[in-house]
Amino acid sequence: SLGRVPRSEEGRTAKIMVFVRLRPMGRREIELGSKSCVRITDDRDVYLTELSSEMDYLRRLNRVSGRHFSFDAAFSDHATQQHVYSTTTADLVQGVLQGRNGSVFCYGSTGAGKTYTMLGTLKNPGVMVLAMKDLFSKIRQRNCDSNHGVHLSYLEVYNETVRDLLSPGRSLVLREDKHQGIVAAGLTHYKAYSTDEVMALLQQGNLNRSTEPTRLNETSSRSHAILQVMVEYREKDSDVTLVGKLSLIDLAGSERAIATDKRTLRSIEGANINRSLLALSSCINALVEGKKHIPYRNSKLTQLLKDSLGGACNSVMIANVSPSSLQFGETQNTLHWADRAK
Ligand code: ADP
Ligand code: MG
Repeated sequence: SLGRVPRSEEGRTAKIMVFVRLRPMGRREIELGSKSCVRITDDRDVYLTELSSEMDYLRRLNRVSGRHFSFDAAFSDHATQQHVYSTTTADLVQGVLQGRNGSVFCYGSTGAGKTYTMLGTLKNPGVMVLAMKDLFSKIRQRNCDSNHGVHLSYLEVYNETVRDLLSPGRSLVLREDKHQGIVAAGLTHYKAYSTDEVMALLQQGNLNRSTEPTRLNETSSRSHAILQVMVEYREKDSDVTLVGKLSLIDLAGSERAIATDKRTLRSIEGANINRSLLALSSCINALVEGKKHIPYRNSKLTQLLKDSLGGACNSVMIANVSPSSLQFGETQNTLHWADRAK
């Protein structure tokens, strides 16, 4: 819809939409005297400026300058959760009701706003909750008495181990199933009936995520959280059951692992997080380049998302960034990563 030309042959669109969301400056960042180094114009252009001094800042304040990136859309720090949802994910929810798979990823360094975007707060629910709300409302609109079923599972990939966030404690084995593809054996499938129960369920699930202190944020998550929503839907007077799956993924922080003692737990985790993110990057790059072989097998994350990335699926990336000049390096890395996913 935004003039994107399919890159792969045979009209098989490996369509990846890429968005950037800038979060507001945090209180701590303001206290530390950091200035904004990201500017968004025309709802799609992002300018990144390295601020070397106060003078530089004042000089650049009145004109747009710096490295320029352009995305399908860019959200400024006052974009609402609803606006972000409608622009990035609403089409995928529509697709799921027509039997298509889709996935939405939040990528970025710790503290950049991934969890806020995906889960949000009780007052400002994020993409996961708004997608469920929209899904239930669309199902209600479209059918009075036909069959539908909505099943949720919520899992994490932490240190290349798959865990059930709805039934903590268990670590799950991935198996290749003839009909269903890759499945996590024993994973909880929760039958959902309304939006209200979903927020509580997801917040509880998020508390079960593995956390480890890092230098950036004491409770930052080093895990990838994946919400999968399976929808079975049968139109009135039809024999055909449509099955669609939507995967909503809050990726682990993309910052580099601290290069200290290689034997510490933190380094091991870092290596594994990089492995999953690296594998995801390789798959995305292979998809956008229209390659035949997509290296899904290289990590747990990409195995789990094999049927939700590429092919007839729609994929969406939301790159989250902080405006703070203190985060310049991370923001630059994130924007470059997002730029390559286009
Ligand atoms: P991440 O999950 O990427 O580590 P968080 O989503 O936890 O980052 O965001 C870090 C902090 O910034 C949190 O306190 C969060 O509430 C706040 N925040 C992030 N994005 C926004 C936003 N768009 N509007 C308001 N606050 C935000
Ligand atoms: Mg988070």
